[in-house]
Amino acid sequence: MSGTVRLYVEHPLGQGQTIPLERAQAHYLFGVMRLEAGAELLLFNGADGEWRAEVAQVGKRGGVLVCREQSRAQAAPPDLWLVFAPVKKAQTQFIVEKAVEMGVAHLQPVLTEFTNSERLRVDKARLHAIEAAEQCGATYVPEVAEPQKLSRLLDQWPAERRLLFCDEAQAGGSSALAGLLALRDRAAGPWAILIGPEGGFSEPERARLQGFDFTHPVALGPRILRAETAAVAALTLWQAALGDWQ
Ligand code: SAH
Repeated sequence: MSGTVRLYVEHPLGQGQTIPLERAQAHYLFGVMRLEAGAELLLFNGADGEWRAEVAQVGKRGGVLVCREQSRAQAAPPDLWLVFAPVKKAQTQFIVEKAVEMGVAHLQPVLTEFTNSERLRVDKARLHAIEAAEQCGATYVPEVAEPQKLSRLLDQWPAERRLLFCDEAQAGGSSALAGLLALRDRAAGPWAILIGPEGGFSEPERARLQGFDFTHPVALGPRILRAETAAVAALTLWQAALGDWQ
């Protein structure tokens, strides 16, 4: 794999399919990665699996790729959302990138009472999700939704989607892994993980979250983690217990 360029394209992929390149893609492939005519690369579009393709035409502002054969079938991620309060720019970028690598279907930024980050650039977050998918071999790109207020999201929460509520107030409490493993046989279906902001959850938020049937409050060990660490830790536990790492 190393050295082979892997590119996300918004174009149908299939045997013999030609893919015209946009200026930015041509710049990346020919200017940055220095691919020449005949060079091989891998393409995916989130629907048709991964395809081995070849450079057919090189241009400064464009070019053409041709699909040769499918190298990987389309695979769906587990139906898992990561619901997170945006933190500082670099840490938010880290959360998006790691969530894609760990395997989620959907990223939902939420504004909580104590969220005090700079405005989240959803367009940038979407580009980071694409880059992470290109790099990690996923055949899909998780969606990044527009930020929403946590209270609004909970008003409309689909009752069948279980919510792993990572609550810093539970730190030191019983093991999240044991709790998730105990759910293994009866908790198939959609899930979400909720990670709070640097300032944590407010008492009213905590009380409301604890009142729902779909909520599973958990501790991530005895220490308080930074939000980005908590996101990776929670994704690891969920993936190992209930997701596609099993
Ligand atoms: N300022 C808060 C900590 C916030 S940490 C305080 O000092 O209490 C940011 C987020 O990471 C939390 O809202 C929670 O979702 C998650 N988190 C961090 N450590 C955790 C732990 N030990 N258990 C569960 N969740 C944790």
